[in-house]
Order: sequence, then structure tokens, then C-alpha cells
Amino acid sequence: MLFLCDAMLAKLAVWLRIFGYDCELASDEESDDEILERAKIEGRIILTRDKALARDKRCVLIPYDDPKKQMEFVKKRFNLVIPNEPVFRFCSRCNGRLVKDGSKWRCVDCGQEYWKGSHWRRISAFAQHLNNT
Ligand SMILES: [Zn+2]
Repeated sequence: MLFLCDAMLAKLAVWLRIFGYDCELASDEESDDEILERAKIEGRIILTRDKALARDKRCVLIPYDDPKKQMEFVKKRFNLVIPNEPVFRFCSRCNGRLVKDGSKWRCVDCGQEYWKGSHWRRISAFAQHLNNT
């Protein structure tokens, strides 16, 4: 399942990437038509806060402002499997592919490095919360 978040859902896009889902983020400059076209070409489901855009059948309206509530909603709506720990598959910054490099992972697109740092426990706690609600 591939997602495309509108520019208002940047934090939701980060959560989806952390849990191993391919999620692109639209920029502020992209028009609704451009977002719809990109979703069509790449076979993505659009997640949006925009009621007008959400009238298109490729879109799902996200009815919350809080990123954690948004993530709960998406998990339930699509029956997503949430791993109990972050997954090193997509870069949370740019959605690029991550490759393993020793004890770290590196984004092939932006070079960002990832490792099991202090944020690990916080993310795992949220994963457990998602799986218990
Ligand atoms: Zn990256």
C-alpha cells in the first residue's frame, strides 16, 4: 500500500515511514491536480486534510489535527500492520530507501543516517499504543 500525504500531513508521513510504509509528501507548491496526477501515476492513496480534495475517490479525508490521532485513524482505516519497533526501510525525512551500513542505516537519496537511538523507546511505546487501541 503506497501513500501520498498532502502538505498538511508531514508528521503523519513521518510516522508511516517509521513503521515501514512508503509515503510520499506533497509540497505546498503542488496543486490539487498535480497531487491527483502523481497519485494516479504512482498508484498511491492520497491522505488529506482538505475536504475539497477529498471528494476525489483516490483520497481519504483525515479528520484530525493531532499527528498521533491521524496515525491511529490511518491504521484502523487500512488495517495496517504496525511493527512493535521502527522499521528501517524508508527514510523518515525524504522517503528514500534505506540501506544497512554496519550498525547504521543510510538513505540512498539524502544521506541521512539512522540507528537505534534514544527516540527508539518513544517510538516503540507509540507502536504498542497503536496496537492496543
Ligand atoms: Zn532520505
